[in-house]
Amino acid sequence: MTLAVVLRAAAFAAEKHKNQRRKDAEASPYINHPIALANVLASEGGVIDPDVLCAALLHDTIEDTETTAEELRRDFGESVTAIVLEVTDDKSLPKAERKRLQIEHAKHASPQAKLVKLADKICNLRDILASPPSDWPAERKRAYFDWASDVVAGVRGIHPGLEAVFDGLHARHAELV
Ligand code: ZN
Repeated sequence: MTLAVVLRAAAFAAEKHKNQRRKDAEASPYINHPIALANVLASEGGVIDPDVLCAALLHDTIEDTETTAEELRRDFGESVTAIVLEVTDDKSLPKAERKRLQIEHAKHASPQAKLVKLADKICNLRDILASPPSDWPAERKRAYFDWASDVVAGVRGIHPGLEAVFDGLHARHAELV
């Protein structure tokens, strides 16, 4: 049952991220972020593919927790795991290289991974506009917005409605600086 598997992914991610906080000034619970992605896709994008919604909920579990691909495969199957792996950075690489690779990988990603990437960038831009990390100067925010635009350039055409949401956030930031 579709709804059950999506909720199972939410519960799985909540358990895996239970001790993590985001970098915003309030240090909000990490799980807010994957839930926000799934919500953007379903509520704003009308996306109903359960694999995409599960992958959105699970998108940071391998990168930021001890979760293995094996575990995801066992609990959620190969297609969800493949999407999560597509949006997982290789943390053994230096940060600048990971950022460059995200721009590169976005262009060649599967349609499902492109949707998750786009929602991820929408949520991150929203968070930075609403409640930025307290130690981020304006220049760092600007650099993040520019980099996010470069990543999103690689997924354009996947969902014009959500791309317009992203563009609106980018324009709002440009007005503020
Ligand atoms: Zn994310």
